[in-house]
Amino acid sequence: MNDTGPAAGTAIVVHDVTKVYDLGEVKVEALRGVSFTIERGEYVAIMGPSGSGKSTLMNVLGCLDRPTAGRYLLDGTDVSTLADDALAHIRLKKLGFVFQGFNLLARTSALKNVALPLFYAGIATKRRNELAAARLTEVGLADRLDHKPNELSGGQQQRVAIARALAIRPRVLLLDEPLSALDAHLREQMQVELKRLQARLGMTFIMVTHDQTEALSISDRIAVMNMGRIEQIAPPATLYDRPATRFVARFIGTMNLFEARCIAREGTTLRFVAGGLPLDLALEAQRPAPAEGEIRTIGVRPEDLIATPEASPATTPARIASIVFHGRSLRIHADLLSGAAIVVDRPRQSSGVVFAAGDLAHLQLRAGASCVLLDA
Ligand code: ADP
Ligand code: MG
Repeated sequence: MNDTGPAAGTAIVVHDVTKVYDLGEVKVEALRGVSFTIERGEYVAIMGPSGSGKSTLMNVLGCLDRPTAGRYLLDGTDVSTLADDALAHIRLKKLGFVFQGFNLLARTSALKNVALPLFYAGIATKRRNELAAARLTEVGLADRLDHKPNELSGGQQQRVAIARALAIRPRVLLLDEPLSALDAHLREQMQVELKRLQARLGMTFIMVTHDQTEALSISDRIAVMNMGRIEQIAPPATLYDRPATRFVARFIGTMNLFEARCIAREGTTLRFVAGGLPLDLALEAQRPAPAEGEIRTIGVRPEDLIATPEASPATTPARIASIVFHGRSLRIHADLLSGAAIVVDRPRQSSGVVFAAGDLAHLQLRAGASCVLLDA
């Protein structure tokens, strides 16, 4: 119950966890051999399509459900083998939960809502109210202690729910789509606040989100799930720049994927070509280099491509199919002469030329940009 950030070390170890829902006739494998480690003070986002196992994983992490097989260590304790009452105790003492619905007691003040878990933790009334007021102050609600949920805005209600989840200073805070009920502006503001709060408390946060921008902007690492497996768990920039699989490449941001032929190697740069478009790739020391003539899957981000009106020896032509306004940039959907579709982002400020659907644009890789080699 102290307020100093927890010491460095490992908060969570998940080893080869499997979860099978036995529905008699059918068995649903919701988690298939999931393994990862989370350090204390890390902010980890979990992403993945619907049905990929995110909630199942959160339920296991939150000791609300048990893995069918595998081990789960929370704060050094193997909780996968604990009896029900011991598990419930861990849940109460070490874990906090924030859900999309705020789940606040409707007729009860913000202060009393936050004081409730402190009551269950056996803290005396006076101290309880002091602590609850301090927690609400922490989330910027010092002047709303006596307000009931219906007297608070959506954002304020979610802040109360966060203060309540943090009341007992859990080791790990689990957040399942915490901000998805909020409108875009408030959501962005709350993302910043959550991140600040987490950094200040030095606490471990694990958050399921559908929102890529949210995951990319506030988490230390993102785990991308697919069909009960973690495809990749990595810092946002790594996930974005070096997705490990096609699935991750397609799931995070937009990525053009081409079957490209390796035509040359110059030092540490490999040159591929797809539909006439030259694509350069920085060679990674740890991976075996493709041989000349080999065909591999290459990814290139739309913002790493340049569209110009004039042809040059370095460009390849593409017919513009449509142009979509994206605010800061224009997204050009075009077709290479090979027929392959390609997406190019063009900053709106980029001077002069205005393209229109039907025009021929000449494409090339931006100088210094590197494409991504994806495993077969
Ligand atoms: P997500 O949260 O990523 O949408 P879930 O963890 O809820 O995915 O679900 C993963 C898979 O497990 C899905 O196929 C889902 O239908 C199944 N599943 C989830 N909960 C149960 C349950 N209580 N009983 C049976 N099947 C379930
Ligand atoms: Mg879910």
